[in-house]
Amino acid sequence: MYCQKRGELLTPLRQKVLSLLLQSGRATKAYTLLDEMRKIHSGSAPPTVYRALDFLQSVGLVHRIESINAFAVCHNLTHCRQGILIVCQCGAVAEIDAWGIHHVLVDKIASTGFTLIQGELELKGLCAECVIKSL
Ligand SMILES: [Zn+2]
Ligand SMILES: [Zn+2]
Repeated sequence: MYCQKRGELLTPLRQKVLSLLLQSGRATKAYTLLDEMRKIHSGSAPPTVYRALDFLQSVGLVHRIESINAFAVCHNLTHCRQGILIVCQCGAVAEIDAWGIHHVLVDKIASTGFTLIQGELELKGLCAECVIKSL
C-alpha cells in the first residue's frame, strides 16, 4: 500500500517479509525471518530474504537495529524523518520523530569537524512490559 504511493515495486516476497515483521511487532533477526519464510516456501534461500530486507530498508519501510542486528518495521511509514529508535532488551522498539533533534546533532557534529554519515540513532530503553517484569 505504502509502496504504491512511492512507485516502488513490492514483490510478493518483499510483501511477505514485511508482513512477518509487522506480525512480530518487534525487532526480528534475519535468520528468524528466514525460518518463518521456510515454513511457507521451503526453498527460501538466505540471499532472497536479505535482498528483500535491503529493499525494505532502502524505501524506508524497515529499520535495521544495528545494536542487536535485527530488523523492525518503521513506526512512521508514511513520513519517517530521522526517527530515533528506542530498543528494549526483549526486542520491542519504539520510534520517535526527532527531526529537530537531528538538526541540532548535525550542527554539533559539524563543529567537531566530523560529518555524520549514518544518522540513525538507537537508544536503549525498557518497554512498559519489561519495566513491570523487572519490579
Ligand atoms: Zn522510521
Ligand atoms: Zn521489553
